Amino acid sequence: MGAFTVASDHPKQADLDRCVHCGLCLNACPTYRELGVEMDSPRGRIYQMVQVASDAARIGPSYIEHIELCLACRGCETACPSGVRYGRLVEAARAQIESAIRRPLAARLVRRFVFGRLLSSPRLLTAAGSAAYLYQVSGMQRALRALARFRLLGKLGDLEQLAPAAEPPFFFSQIGKVFPAEGERRHRVAFLAGCLANVCFARLNEATVRVLRKNGCEVTVPEGQTCCGALHVHSGLPEYARGLARRNIDAVLSGNYDAVITNAGGCGSTLKEYDELLEHDPAYARKARRFTSLMRDVNEFLAAIDLNREMGPVAATATYQDSCHLAHGQRVRAAPRKLLSEVPGLELREMPLSDICCGSAGIYNVLQNEMSQQLLGKKMESVNSTGASLIVTANPGCMLQLQAGARLHGQGQRVAHVIEVLDEAYSRAAGSPAAK
Ligand code: SF4
Ligand code: SF4
Repeated sequence: MGAFTVASDHPKQADLDRCVHCGLCLNACPTYRELGVEMDSPRGRIYQMVQVASDAARIGPSYIEHIELCLACRGCETACPSGVRYGRLVEAARAQIESAIRRPLAARLVRRFVFGRLLSSPRLLTAAGSAAYLYQVSGMQRALRALARFRLLGKLGDLEQLAPAAEPPFFFSQIGKVFPAEGERRHRVAFLAGCLANVCFARLNEATVRVLRKNGCEVTVPEGQTCCGALHVHSGLPEYARGLARRNIDAVLSGNYDAVITNAGGCGSTLKEYDELLEHDPAYARKARRFTSLMRDVNEFLAAIDLNREMGPVAATATYQDSCHLAHGQRVRAAPRKLLSEVPGLELREMPLSDICCGSAGIYNVLQNEMSQQLLGKKMESVNSTGASLIVTANPGCMLQLQAGARLHGQGQRVAHVIEVLDEAYSRAAGSPAAK
């Protein structure tokens, strides 16, 4: 057993038994659609997990390759009529792999640093963000991107396209603050600001606070909050994630909130599954269930309340790309579309296959860059077919991927989060200072 997994971190027989091998999930699976290989389909991956669970096969290079090529996008979960909990299965399979193999020293050190230190340290993230900002403004980024255009940087050029931009001042300075509701207070909410998002999506986090305040929310950004642990869970490191989950639970449950809000679809599905992550922890199981019951994606929350409709026009044709973990992990599809339909001047055009993954999938686009690029190319064909000038989504990771897509294969589209579109509409409302 590795230090980052426990004995129960393996695919459960009851979950595996739910699959009746009908194949109705195959067409919903991006890797199967690309490769047409059964072992890279949900059914094929489950079959391999069953083989490992029954000791008919060992955890070897082929098994690891097929499990790692999965995006954990959970498109198969939506398609499956038998209710297979595929997300839970693949996360457990990855944890089992982690406990069974020993990675090369360099990989172990990088993983320990990124997952064990960097993502949960405001100090290290601030230092990394400051260095990234220097790289952006010094002209180095522009020079490297120019070289990448002529394919002079090879794979590094592809990865550079995905690098998030640092956005000083970072949002860490807002943690611990309480923002009053505009007008009558109707809700008290806590906002979880993420980890990297404090550095790379600081403006999105600020917009989220503004939009919530416009909707009668007193917004607290609780002290003591940390990374949600989603990247850890997806990378087979659930014990790290459990440590982070306990910190977030303590940070939030010490307040008295109507809801706990995230603006990241990817984080939201892990945050909503803290009850399962900590089900065997006697000290936290009950608290985790309470935490889970309060968790809301910001789209879901706003679509369920009496929305403030004092908005000005955002004249654009937009298309919405589902965040996989919002659509398939949390089953939230209608809420972002409903919010966008409230924005005056905005025309929403659905793209084909909007709920097929764009290839972002956490850090998948870095680790499995070739497949990710293939999926992004297909995604941008769908986007381009709509003629939309604005691509809207609901997860920061998808935004980065789609920004790269717009640069590499697009037609000059802008990429925005649903909340940024609402924020723009509120700023243009009659009487708002920005509208004058
Ligand atoms: S995961 Fe679901 S849809 Fe796919 S083969 Fe199994 S039972 Fe059928
Ligand atoms: S999670 Fe996504 S990539 Fe993985 S098997 Fe399911 S549909 Fe395919």
